[in-house]
Amino acid sequence: MEAPKIAVVGAGVIGLSTALCIVETCPSSSVTVLSDQFSPNTTSDVAAGMLIPHTYPGTPIHLQKQWFKETFTYLFAISNSTEASEAGIHLVSGWQVFKSTPKEELPFWSDVVLGFRPMSEAELQKFPQHRFGQAFTTLKCDCPPYLLWLEKRLKATGVQMYNRKVADLWELHREYDIVVNCTGIGAHQLVGDKKLFPVRGQVLQVHAPWVKNFIRDGDGLTYIYPGIHRVTLGGTREKESWSLSPDPGTTKDIFDRCCSLEASLQEAQDIKVKVGLRPSRQCVRLQREILSQGGVKLPVVHNYGHGAGGFSVHRGTAKEAARLVRECIGALQGSSSRAKL
Ligand code: FAD
Repeated sequence: MEAPKIAVVGAGVIGLSTALCIVETCPSSSVTVLSDQFSPNTTSDVAAGMLIPHTYPGTPIHLQKQWFKETFTYLFAISNSTEASEAGIHLVSGWQVFKSTPKEELPFWSDVVLGFRPMSEAELQKFPQHRFGQAFTTLKCDCPPYLLWLEKRLKATGVQMYNRKVADLWELHREYDIVVNCTGIGAHQLVGDKKLFPVRGQVLQVHAPWVKNFIRDGDGLTYIYPGIHRVTLGGTREKESWSLSPDPGTTKDIFDRCCSLEASLQEAQDIKVKVGLRPSRQCVRLQREILSQGGVKLPVVHNYGHGAGGFSVHRGTAKEAARLVRECIGALQGSSSRAKL
């Protein structure tokens, strides 16, 4: 069989990292990325890109931990390399604070991030409305630079990228042997997945270079995440809202909530507002499927539905998707050698 032709649909963090893992895992394949939007116009560009996992209720915790650990290890190596600045990857220390002690004082990811510990009384004095807190160091991706870095690596390995809206995965069956679906919230329409729903998120990006530590309210709604150039202030979680228009009332509310955690933000300048739709599901859809029409078959690997935590687990799920693609290649090679007998 000639080099199998693989189309990855989607150019957010999931599509690009999956394409890269496929190139690394199946070097003899020919990989193409097709997408109707590229950076800076994807949901992934809006994300804060913090590595703090979101919990998927339908996925075993040991698997979520494995995905997070693989992602953390991969990005930690980048953060320690000369690529760190171009890739937008850096370590950031800070605090997660709670108004009352949480049921789970040790989250499942506490031994993956660095230096996880309860906050001291002295640290808690900064947060008079909060009674309990956790201090740790994690990684942050500055999202548009990271996406551009992934694109650059893909192009360097010969991966082609085309602007194309795919209306039906089946339309790709004449051109490609295997299709990988990384369309995020686009999968709602593309494959009619009714289990997938948007959770709208509005964030502010501000100039406040004196803010160096992250602060996250334990309810996950209010957060301050410093990046290399800008600080992301969040946020909102609006289930089933498809609106991509910024809401001025929400902007004020986010700003006030963040100022109540870090009063110096009152002096922040150059406020930009961004909105994205988290592709949410009970569990990430990471599975093989065979589409079939009139005796013709098209193997598909799905990798979408990462909700609020796509950056935190992207490398782990990309590796698993690449493993599924390798299985598909094995099955295709098996059937083509049987056909020759
Ligand atoms: P997307 O980035 O949406 O990419 C999907 C791609 O598919 C796009 O290129 C799109 O154009 C393409 N596409 C869709 N349909 C089609 C079609 N029919 N044909 C061709 N192309 C198609 N996660 C974290 O881990 N940490 C955070 O701090 C964090 N903060 C967030 C803050 C906000 C406000 C939001 C909204 C999200 C945040 N997330 C965070 C979640 C994260 O952004 C998502 O989980 C992640 O971006 C999903 O990536 P994706 O590649 O699946 O989707």
